[in-house]
Amino acid sequence: MSDEVASQLTADIQVSPNYKYLPSILDVLSPTCCARCILRFTGVQAPHIYSKTEMITEPERKQLREGPLPGICSACLGLLEETMIGSARDPIQHRYEGKINEMLSQELTQTEAQFDDYTLAISLPPSLIIRQYSIWYLLRQRTQGFNGDVPIIVEIKECLKWTLGRFLQDHRKMEFKFQSNFTVTLIVKNESTNTEHEFLADMKEKEGLQKPKPQRLNKRRANGDNKKVMPEVSSNYVSKLLDDITFEKFKESSPIPPPPVTSECSLAVSLSHSPIYVAGRYIKYSRDISQSPWVIDGVRKTQFSVEEILAGPILPMFKAQGYKFMSAGREDSDVRMTGRGRPFVLEIENPKVTRVGDDVFRKIEHLHNSGAHSVESTLVKFVDLQIVPKGEVSKIKEGEQTKTKNYRALVWISRSMTDEELRAITERKDLVIDQKTPVRVLHRRTLAVRQKKIHSLGFERINEHFIYLDLHTESGTYIKEFVHGDLGRTQPSFTSLLGCQTDILELDVTSVNLDFPSQVSTEIPETTKAEIPHYLK
Ligand SMILES: [Zn+2]
Repeated sequence: MSDEVASQLTADIQVSPNYKYLPSILDVLSPTCCARCILRFTGVQAPHIYSKTEMITEPERKQLREGPLPGICSACLGLLEETMIGSARDPIQHRYEGKINEMLSQELTQTEAQFDDYTLAISLPPSLIIRQYSIWYLLRQRTQGFNGDVPIIVEIKECLKWTLGRFLQDHRKMEFKFQSNFTVTLIVKNESTNTEHEFLADMKEKEGLQKPKPQRLNKRRANGDNKKVMPEVSSNYVSKLLDDITFEKFKESSPIPPPPVTSECSLAVSLSHSPIYVAGRYIKYSRDISQSPWVIDGVRKTQFSVEEILAGPILPMFKAQGYKFMSAGREDSDVRMTGRGRPFVLEIENPKVTRVGDDVFRKIEHLHNSGAHSVESTLVKFVDLQIVPKGEVSKIKEGEQTKTKNYRALVWISRSMTDEELRAITERKDLVIDQKTPVRVLHRRTLAVRQKKIHSLGFERINEHFIYLDLHTESGTYIKEFVHGDLGRTQPSFTSLLGCQTDILELDVTSVNLDFPSQVSTEIPETTKAEIPHYLK
């Protein structure tokens, strides 16, 4: 290290709040605490000092500490400590950094997530809080004039982000950031100290003080191995236990300084990526498939659902297990979705692959739509697959109230009518109707009268009693009820306008008019017209 760098580092230490007590802090803490912890209690806030390990180990800086500690640092349980575990050539090494790096390498071989930066999430043993208090009290007792408030002490978690964050950045060529889509989670537990907070709960009970609700982390859902190394209670809970505990009370039951640490920490490293959002449009051919899995009392009512058919080929692209499905509205299970389809978004949870090119999306569309997943392909196809930023996902819901939709209904008319008679009715524009909540959805919707607009109508005659009725309507219009009138609950209806009985035999949504997501596919699967059921031919 150059003299210039060394004197800059000294200057950075000198501005720290407790610098004037450094000789005394050194005197009190050197036998049991590591160099970084001494810096923490001195309130040194400059991250680069903590990551400059050579600064701490270089002979001329050894005023901070004479060689490695005989035991494990009692303030950080060794998490920030350098010790004699290295090779003969390079004997002093960080106690855990190498190990964490190895565990991370192991985890990284399991993922294909592509990332340039990462952030750290750290869960620490709650005993660190008790120990920090104990050392703080020790310094107050032993250092004339020392009145360092707890906030002046640099938190271990913060410090670990500076040191470990930097270490992994250098070793893994990935930039450490305080916010990133890619998270390395480090869970630390220390067996020999994990009951050190318990006296606080007992004391609170004895004193009749209010106790916080215990948050037992090991009951929290966690994946695989993480579960075993979760601390039993959260640090937050232990901090709350310390509320209202005076120094006098604390020292009655907790040793000052804290006792030696007799076991090393156990570590667990896991990786996670924030969700990726895949948008697209689905085209639904079946009149017997619900949008979401249809389960009543634990029993599946249909073998397939739209969202499962979509997730089928898309999830493996990201090597992901879980997803959430969102769509711009939904159609009844007996209604087809034709045309360019209905916009949807799949939120892919914890993807192991994070970059998928447009060419791959087009290939998957082609494979699926041309029948690669035989049965499923005949039920649902999809187009316009693409990754969208999280901020755009809300467009799918925002559009729910404002978008319009087009429909084609196969309608039976009881009396024979001329084209002129039909045209007189279908030529109306922006017909306003009042719809009372349909009988068939009353069990899940509140009873209300909703005013809706039928922007336009059109028809194509099939024969004397059958027509295709084309509708362009405001979002939220109940089409089946508009056609048959729902026993007079929709006014006016196609039935009331015609003055005869009508019924709707089949319905297709032909267009959901939402400008999301971008239309990127050029191959759009075709759909046939709704067919007249054979028994009516
Ligand atoms: Zn330490």
